[in-house]
Amino acid sequence: MELNEFLKQISSLSGDDPQAVDICRRAWEFAQMAHNGQKRASGEPYFNHCVKTAETLIKMKLDAKTIVAGLLHDVAEDTKFTLQDIKKNFGAEIASLVEGATKLGKIKYRGDQQRAENLRKMFLAMAKDIRVVLIKLADRLHNMQTLQYVKPEKQKRIALETMEIYAPLAHRLGIGEIKGQLEDLTFQYLQPDQYKWLIENIAEQYQEREKYVEKIKPVILQELSKENINAIKIDARAKHYWSLYQKLQKYDMNFEKIHDLIALRIVVNTIEECYGALGVLHKLWRPLPGKIKDYIALPKPNGYQSLHTTIFCVDGKITEFQIRTAKMHDEAELGIAAHWLYSEKGKPKTGVKLNEQKFSWVSQLRDWQKKVSGSQEFLENLKIDFFNDRIFALTPKGDAIDLPKGATPIDFAYHIHSDIGDHCSGAKVNEKMVPLSHTLQNGDVVEILIQKKHKPSRAWLEFVKTSIAQNRIRHSLKKEFGVEIAPIKKQSAGYHVEMKISCQDRVGLVKDVSEEIQKLKINIESLNTVANHKHDPAIITITSTIKERNLIEKLATKLKQIKNVYEVNYKISSKD
Ligand code: MN
Repeated sequence: MELNEFLKQISSLSGDDPQAVDICRRAWEFAQMAHNGQKRASGEPYFNHCVKTAETLIKMKLDAKTIVAGLLHDVAEDTKFTLQDIKKNFGAEIASLVEGATKLGKIKYRGDQQRAENLRKMFLAMAKDIRVVLIKLADRLHNMQTLQYVKPEKQKRIALETMEIYAPLAHRLGIGEIKGQLEDLTFQYLQPDQYKWLIENIAEQYQEREKYVEKIKPVILQELSKENINAIKIDARAKHYWSLYQKLQKYDMNFEKIHDLIALRIVVNTIEECYGALGVLHKLWRPLPGKIKDYIALPKPNGYQSLHTTIFCVDGKITEFQIRTAKMHDEAELGIAAHWLYSEKGKPKTGVKLNEQKFSWVSQLRDWQKKVSGSQEFLENLKIDFFNDRIFALTPKGDAIDLPKGATPIDFAYHIHSDIGDHCSGAKVNEKMVPLSHTLQNGDVVEILIQKKHKPSRAWLEFVKTSIAQNRIRHSLKKEFGVEIAPIKKQSAGYHVEMKISCQDRVGLVKDVSEEIQKLKINIESLNTVANHKHDPAIITITSTIKERNLIEKLATKLKQIKNVYEVNYKISSKD
């Protein structure tokens, strides 16, 4: 796409908003300049990739800021320009979209299917803004379209990651078109022989069905108009290769048994007309039993709505029809992005409760979409906050572990395996050693160090956050000492700490101590000094309630560094 064509599309998309056109023009020129001289693996200018990504976002009918972020999505990672530069030129919102996309680029799937779901959640949790996910999907689509230029071993990894992470996310966000394209592109890398077989065998099948579709279209249109149903359009939808292949496997690889190889889509104005059109079809041609699906009354978990039926159509050919309103059609293709197009009036009836655990976050997403009425409000509510109480940390191999907020390396270790927890002797987070009580953050790569002789410590009970870790530690302690150890109460208010500092008193010592405490923003509840006899150390006793366990250790370390301090001891008693 050339700049002029690009700006023309932005203009029509934004309702001729001159500001949108201006910022998009500036972003185009900035990205072109920033990537100047860089080439893709295919040899073409890198900037083409930025344009392709933006083009997909235009097709998804997104707002100008998202499209700008699409153009700039690789600038911070791959050029000499920084997020600061983007912020300066395009504002904080666009910079944060680019930042999000850059961060998500670091999530790698290395192939543990069991944990792929966690990785998908982590992806959303780290995205924070749903538009970041849409940018990554558009980015990935073009990367898949140009995957043939990449080294074979990298091809496989990227294809697998697309199949396990990106396509399912597109599916759950209801973006059927991108999901289908991603899966088809992936198919040829993951199962090249099967893909080849399908392509060789399908051409004739498609041709034959296409001819048939052209023949029956006018017949259907005529029948609908007799009943005063005005079809906005009837089009033929060829089934995507990957989903067709999945289906063929279930039906002895027999094309004759696949009735939706090409399905006919009837798009009408209202829900009443949907049911009306269904009635017309069924009056004229016999439906196949068990093939009538009412996804309008009962939408699919990702929100998909349509009526499906399969009938013995003209010449007795078994043909699938999908009947939907224009709005449902856009939502099926664009998913969550369709909300930029529609306000809530004329909302179709929905009312199905989603009870599948694994889809619970999807339903949250849907609920949250429903709550938002206008598209402006929708834009302002794009924050992903339903994982607020969870964090996702990665093993060095790239598996994501789902943990509650505040979890520590010990929790992480026990969630991988109880033996790893039991023998945990240390931890590295993002390649740096941390205390075992360290609070993990989203996206941290955690390496657990183990020593065979190492055993769980009672102190661990004071900072672990998960019941799995609590229970395993108590179990091990009981085995070792033969006594039951009561579970520690949840401490939401913090840890009540009494700290004793033995020191040789000097002028300014108490001041130095309180300064260190203030630096860590800890509130002191009491501070007492017990004066000394000549050669005995003085004792300063501080009591405080400290929110985070690792802050206590930090404070103790800092205090030890003060001149004339000999020793720092502390006692933690839980606050009730
Ligand atoms: Mn990219």
